[in-house]
Amino acid sequence: MTDFELIVDFYKDLPRQGPGSSAVTKRALELLGAEKDAPLQALDIGCGTGAQTFVLAEHTSWNITAVDIFPEFLERLEEGAVSTGLTDRVSVSNQSMDSLSFEEGQFDVIWSEGAAYIMGFDNAVREWRRFLKTGGALAVSEISWFTGSRPRELEKYWTEAYPQIETVSNKIKVLEESGYSPAAYFALPEYCWLEEYYRPVESHLGEFLMRHHHSSEAAAFAEGEKQEIALFKKYKEYYGYGFYLARKKQPFKAQPVPPPGK
Ligand code: SAH
Repeated sequence: MTDFELIVDFYKDLPRQGPGSSAVTKRALELLGAEKDAPLQALDIGCGTGAQTFVLAEHTSWNITAVDIFPEFLERLEEGAVSTGLTDRVSVSNQSMDSLSFEEGQFDVIWSEGAAYIMGFDNAVREWRRFLKTGGALAVSEISWFTGSRPRELEKYWTEAYPQIETVSNKIKVLEESGYSPAAYFALPEYCWLEEYYRPVESHLGEFLMRHHHSSEAAAFAEGEKQEIALFKKYKEYYGYGFYLARKKQPFKAQPVPPPGK
């Protein structure tokens, strides 16, 4: 199995593939002032098995296109849509987030939890912007530094794993410089990592290793997960996920300055 196949095999049975929670998705919806009955067009990028997709579908009247690169995750999501009776408003699309084939201005909302890092936050928000209508909403959760400085061990680990890890204010600046008006920000509570994400990860590792006969690849994957979890437990006050909400701005048009009156 390739590393990707192992990752998919591990994560497809988990309730979610990144930190988050239903309450957090609902909170982000509230902060956007989303109306329950508006039949908006929404894109959920890096949807995984759909943890946030179903919260969005349940609390809005949106038509949601859920995009992911791994068909195995999308199959799980489709099964969920069938069992919750949401197939009329939730559909899946197997595409890569860095070369999406949608129309310009097709969506009222772009949602992405725990996935923008794959392209890098800066590239992601710049590239996805064209698919939004002017005034449309962007909702992205992203790993961020919560303090101005941090221990070396932590800094080294995360800047190697994800060079675009940045402070919250710098993430907001990227949004401003990429044609958005920041609308709201909040930090995900700790339980979104420890209980909603890492606990299921920890409890699946034993079975996963047995199923893969403790292969060196599976063991290396499990070690990597354990290291990430240990680091979070040790240093969680320094970093976490931020939820960034913004709206697509009109392009700025310079107005000619009228000549001074006589
Ligand atoms: N939003 C989900 C999943 C986050 S994990 C949750 O919060 O639970 C990141 C997701 O991005 C995974 O589902 C992974 O399969 C997907 N992904 C990875 N590379 C991708 C790419 N190039 N294009 C689209 N999705 C991708």
